[in-house]
Amino acid sequence: MKLDRYGQYKPTGPAGWMRRKSREFARTCPFSPSAKNEDALAEALFPDADRHDSRLGRYRSAYVGYAADEGFRDHGSSGGLTSWVLAELLGTGRIDGAAHVVATDPRHDGLFFRYRISRTQDEIRAGAKSRYYPVELSEVLGIIHANPGRYAVVGIPCFIKAIQLLRRDSPILRERIRFTLGLFCGHMKSARFAESLAWQMGVPPEDVQGVEFRRKDPDRPANWYTAQLTLRDGQVAQKDWWHLADGDWGAGFFQNPACNFCDDVVAETADIGFGDAWVEPYSSDGRGTNVVIVRSPEMERLVKTGIEQGRLHLKPVDARFVEQTQAAGFRQRREGLAYRLSWRRPGVKPRKRVQPDSRGLSTRRKLIYRSRALITACSHRVFRFARLIRRPGLYIRWARLALTIYHGLAYSRGRLGAMIDRWE
Ligand SMILES: Cc1cc2nc3c(=O)[nH]c(=O)nc-3n(C[C@H](O)[C@H](O)[C@H](O)COP(=O)(O)OP(=O)(O)OC[C@H]3O[C@@H](n4cnc5c(N)ncnc54)[C@H](O)[C@@H]3O)c2cc1C
Repeated sequence: MKLDRYGQYKPTGPAGWMRRKSREFARTCPFSPSAKNEDALAEALFPDADRHDSRLGRYRSAYVGYAADEGFRDHGSSGGLTSWVLAELLGTGRIDGAAHVVATDPRHDGLFFRYRISRTQDEIRAGAKSRYYPVELSEVLGIIHANPGRYAVVGIPCFIKAIQLLRRDSPILRERIRFTLGLFCGHMKSARFAESLAWQMGVPPEDVQGVEFRRKDPDRPANWYTAQLTLRDGQVAQKDWWHLADGDWGAGFFQNPACNFCDDVVAETADIGFGDAWVEPYSSDGRGTNVVIVRSPEMERLVKTGIEQGRLHLKPVDARFVEQTQAAGFRQRREGLAYRLSWRRPGVKPRKRVQPDSRGLSTRRKLIYRSRALITACSHRVFRFARLIRRPGLYIRWARLALTIYHGLAYSRGRLGAMIDRWE
């Protein structure tokens, strides 16, 4: 896997490999039309999960809350539960290592984050926080292959699906990867998002030593994201996402194009899935709160024990509650996906659980989905051009304009809003 000119991972290989058909690749690529879908995988993985929801998939229980054991919530992106579960798996001897994403020294190869196998509690804790940055699994899968042991893997939904598809094919991975921990996902960004943060904070990207996409501040609402860059000389620069030209998550800046064809928001094939509780009163609580979906019996036992011991502060919730926390994500991956699938395009035809459909959508919704897709496609290209000619201002001005138009379409009221709503 190598980063392409837009800062996104692409498989490399002998010229023309993409056109050579390979049964193995068709079976194991999470976006392949011939691969098993999330429903089929979950049915085989969690046969006795007694609840099913068209958006959450199969599950046993769902909760809202946080890790009460010291240090996890303070240092986690949301309630710190993902790191808590990893630490508990390791501490109770259920695993020997955890594959997750940690910060690395960009002086080695220009990368800020990569997958690593953590084998101690300290390493697991040091890996906390969400990384909106491209990563890839090949290195850690190689390590798991070469080193017998029991492992857990953390990943966004398409990564966990890839792991489950590989586990079906490989007895070694099936035996060694004992647990999968999914992160809910809105979309994955390219490496250029981190560079854009530097441009907008007025620092040269090559001077950046560390990136924190979501700095925690208990005194501010959890959904007021602040990005922080640490520079080589130890200084820090910060900016709130809403002051960034490309800081509106919903506008789709730097989104990986594959995300346009994803229908899994909550990691339906993971033993347990974690997200942010984006509903009140939780979104106003700057300390961070998770929503959790439990699918496997072993994870259910682990979570229940944690609650009984007072080490997890979790309250049971229903599917409707979890869906509300991810309302925008589900709109984009259901209604939006159905609409995008109805667009004519050459190449591989995606096969999704959502059928192509453009009926019943208002003009405003259609325009939002069209402009979002356009912003995604153009952001990669405009940024690349601005980078080539060393004119950050070109990209930033374009992004501001694109965001203004997008906001006009999405939120305008009054005469403009009425005009958009009437326009058929
Ligand atoms: C690209 C991306 C998009 C997301 N979109 C949404 C969303 O739309 N809605 C929502 O509710 N939540 C989303 N999340 C999840 C959310 O940001 C939190 O990660 C989640 O709530 C877990 O928080 P925590 O405090 O329990 O995790 P922490 O205790 O902070 O631990 C996070 C764990 O995840 C690992 N990790 C971080 N980034 C990655 C990555 N890119 N790939 C694999 N592992 C990683 C870390 O190494 C760490 O082990 C997204 C996460 C990512 C990475």
